Formats: sequence, structure tokens, C-alpha cells
Amino acid sequence: MNVDDEGHRSGGVSRAYDRKARRQGDLLARWAPRWRAAGYALLVTADHGMSDLGEHSGPEAAETRVPLYTLGPVGGPAGEALFLPDPHGSPTQLQIAGLLAEILGLRDHGFAAPQGILTPRA
Ligand SMILES: [Zn+2]
Repeated sequence: MNVDDEGHRSGGVSRAYDRKARRQGDLLARWAPRWRAAGYALLVTADHGMSDLGEHSGPEAAETRVPLYTLGPVGGPAGEALFLPDPHGSPTQLQIAGLLAEILGLRDHGFAAPQGILTPRA
């Protein structure tokens, strides 16, 4: 069962949901140093949060606010440094979508620019 399934089943403040999310963190802690050593930058986020009752289709902050962690400068398709996070920033889901569109090299995607330091494309 994945984190989302556990949230629906047990709720966003349950011990089971917390345990499942921590398991994902443990996996990242194990693998992230190896991926960084291999030259990869990492961007970890989610497509939604989870309410106390196990829902994520509403407007509540617990459902719409998501984490954004970056390890190393996130680069564009040509390997250029594209985004360094603003440590005081709080990007929205739409800004994260804009960041991912930029990383994928999509043009005219229409999403807002994410917070952080953006390096213009050459
Ligand atoms: Zn779901």
C-alpha cells in the first residue's frame, strides 16, 4: 500500500500514515547520497497533501500545500543550473508545475515561474 492509499484509509494525521511517509523518507535518505554522488540533482515534492479525514480534493491547506526539497541545483535539459530554491520561499503547486515544465524544456507552458533563482536559457 502506498502513502496515498494509507492516507485515504487511515487519515492524514494517523500513525499509519505517518509511518508510511517516514518509510519514504528512510528510502530517500538511503538512496539520495548515491544519486547525488552519481551527479544527479533531486527534486522531491508531491501532487497533493492529505486532510485529517483522508481526502485531497478540497481547498484546505493540508490538501493543497506540498513539500519541495531540492538536493543540488536543479538543471534544465542542457544541464544548466535552472533553479536554486529560495530558503524562505513557499512555492505553490502551480509554481512547482512551472518548475517541472521548465526542467522538461517545455515552452509556453503558461505556469507561473517558481520562487528561487532562475537562470535564463541561453
Ligand atoms: Zn488519493
